[in-house]
Amino acid sequence: MLDDLTRLSSRKGFFAQLEKQVCSLSADSGKIACLIINIHELKKINSSFGYDIGDTLLIEFSQRIRGMLRAMDTAARIGDSKFALILSAIMNSGHATLAANKILTLLDEPFRINDKQILINASMGIALFPEHGEDAQSLFQNTEAALDQAKSAGSGYHIYNQNSDTITRQNHILTKELKDAIDGDELLMHYQPQISIPQQHLTSAEALVRWQHPHTGLIPPDRFITLAENCGLITPLTIWTINTTLRHCKPCFDQWQDYRVSINLSAALLHETDLADIIQQSLRIWGVEANRLMLEVTESAMMRDPDKSMETLSKLNSIGVAISIDDFGTGHSSLAYLKQLPVNEIKIDKSFVMNMTENEDDRKIVRSVIDLGHTFDLQVVAEGIESKQILTELRKMGCDIGQGYFISRPLPMDEMLQWINSTSWASNRQRI
Ligand code: C2E
Ligand code: CA
Ligand code: CA
Repeated sequence: MLDDLTRLSSRKGFFAQLEKQVCSLSADSGKIACLIINIHELKKINSSFGYDIGDTLLIEFSQRIRGMLRAMDTAARIGDSKFALILSAIMNSGHATLAANKILTLLDEPFRINDKQILINASMGIALFPEHGEDAQSLFQNTEAALDQAKSAGSGYHIYNQNSDTITRQNHILTKELKDAIDGDELLMHYQPQISIPQQHLTSAEALVRWQHPHTGLIPPDRFITLAENCGLITPLTIWTINTTLRHCKPCFDQWQDYRVSINLSAALLHETDLADIIQQSLRIWGVEANRLMLEVTESAMMRDPDKSMETLSKLNSIGVAISIDDFGTGHSSLAYLKQLPVNEIKIDKSFVMNMTENEDDRKIVRSVIDLGHTFDLQVVAEGIESKQILTELRKMGCDIGQGYFISRPLPMDEMLQWINSTSWASNRQRI
């Protein structure tokens, strides 16, 4: 019972083997670990590169896993982008996590197919027999629950625990609620002002999404963006944020000729082939020129699939939208790669900025990023400015734009307009 494409066990073969091993396990033959591996974004790989390349990738992935298993272990393909493993005669959960870590390491190396380099990500659920299930069926169900938890945490793997069921149930509820919140306008946008450091006046703002949950109150984005990415809601959520932001910022665009707004773009959106069309349509609807919009993409998102990122970013750049590399300094982009990107700005990660007055290493990193950005003719933004002292240091270092609690926290648009009317950061600005 083999899978036609990969020649691993089929789903049927896998369940027969799991049943057999669970029934014949004796007290002295150790434990059994069941792992389910879900490859992310296979659909997008198929639609971007074609099914032949998607199929070759699955075959090569199967060969990589086969190569790391022992003869007694079982590997199967149980769904389009789902694989499952049975690890026999293991002593404890440490052996299963070792295997999971090995699989993650295997994925650090891109797949080279024809002339393409493709990097993939995967999430894994793990459950052990006998402690996590009384029979093959419950063991498998609990491995699925652990996989759900790994997916929603955005983590590589998760081992089943008693809470997994509750968390899986909670995530299902939250996913449904998030969908209703997007449709029902329960999401909010807050805006954090950005200033020109040399001129000391307001230039722009970063748009940050919030969810006003009817029972639990304001939920920060870190909690639900990953959920949205994993349950197919990130595209509608992003379209909502773009339209709402352009609508809200109209008074600022009208007051200041060069006022710009930055919107965060999730990694998943870099594969959206018609992203530039979607954005162009929103700009048209709200009567906003493309050069008023900046899109922030993290360094790690770009490095996930450099070829595809380059294609999407070039399209956006060609319609006049500016691009910023967010959280700069936390990823591994090479200088050579950075040079080729159609990028206008880099944003130094706040973890370096917040500590730069106490930590000499952080101060050196901030200074080097500013110099590096300027060498490539890029505008450099520092976020996480929490004190006057940090702002003064940044001014001495020649940093262009600043953002942080010292200037203002992110605010709803009506409060931002009040802030604009009362702060010296905005009063020394020429209005149109
Ligand atoms: P980010 O893009 O790095 O956004 C900056 C975060 O730093 C914001 O957190 C902001 O409130 C916080 N921050 C700004 N100044 C300071 C400061 O001086 N000190 C400290 N401690 N923090 C400061 P927030 O709003 O909770 O957003 C967290 C992350 O969620 C964002 O990080 C971004 O990755 C994501 N996010 C937010 N809004 C959106 C969105 O509309 N779409 C997408 N895809 N992601 C979003
Ligand atoms: Ca950002
Ligand atoms: Ca950031």
